[in-house]
Amino acid sequence: MTRTRNAYVTLVTNADYAMGALALVRSLKLTGTPADILVMHTGGVDASALAPLEQLGAKLAKAELLPTSAAFNERHQRAKLHADAPFTKGNKPTFHTPLDNFAKLRLWQLTQYERVVFIDADAIVLRNIDRLFAYPEFSAAPNVYESLADFHRMNSGVFVARPSEDTFRRMLAALDRPDAFWRRTDQTFLQSFFPDWHGLPVFFNMLQYVWFNLPELWDWTSISVLHYQYEKPWEEDHPKAERLKPLIDLWHAYHTGKAIPDPNSLQNPPGK
Ligand code: UDP
Ligand code: MN
Repeated sequence: MTRTRNAYVTLVTNADYAMGALALVRSLKLTGTPADILVMHTGGVDASALAPLEQLGAKLAKAELLPTSAAFNERHQRAKLHADAPFTKGNKPTFHTPLDNFAKLRLWQLTQYERVVFIDADAIVLRNIDRLFAYPEFSAAPNVYESLADFHRMNSGVFVARPSEDTFRRMLAALDRPDAFWRRTDQTFLQSFFPDWHGLPVFFNMLQYVWFNLPELWDWTSISVLHYQYEKPWEEDHPKAERLKPLIDLWHAYHTGKAIPDPNSLQNPPGK
């Protein structure tokens, strides 16, 4: 079988992330991409939350959580992970379940596609990024949102992968080893599984905290993917909502489909 097809893939395991995916899918459609847009979903999402995604042209694919061991699940359970590897830089919303993140790895089973670009459901795409399909596995941007030291780590909110059942099997074997603890879940795991990851420019996964921590890096004319890591733009009154207002307003424009601005016309942050 020749495989020529490309897909953007995201993951939703509950109604909150389905809201995120709505803005993401709409933003992708607006880039004019000919690639498929596929939403992997688990049993945790109602049909009513998925229907609007299909109406926008996304395909839906049921994905089970991974068959990880009870001990693995216990170690990565939300309260335990937050206690053993506390988040000091920002807050995770209550609807975020760390274990669910690992279901991302299911995209390696989408072997009907040649290449996949995975994008977190809490991101929006501001311009066409189809050229990412020509990038090798595994390509991802650095986890930059505070300082230069961040360049050591990758962020798993946007990455290029090549589906393969063989890779998927090897991943499962490497993932659930006795005592394995992945403090930042799929992100820590993927960085360890692909130690030679290829670096994408930060503009392919611009993290929202750059807006106030590293404003000199911000440039609306270069940003392709905007990623709302930590607090989500649809959370009511989150602690950074005031500081991130222009970014939150932009997300809502994509979510409602109303008055979506040209990203090139947006104002860079103070300090830029
Ligand atoms: N996700 C999900 N349900 C969860 C946790 C995560 O569907 O309970 C998916 C969703 O696509 C989300 C991604 O996994 O965008 C990674 O989680 P998140 O974006 O919240 O992590 P952050 O970017 O804040 O580190
Ligand atoms: Mn995210």
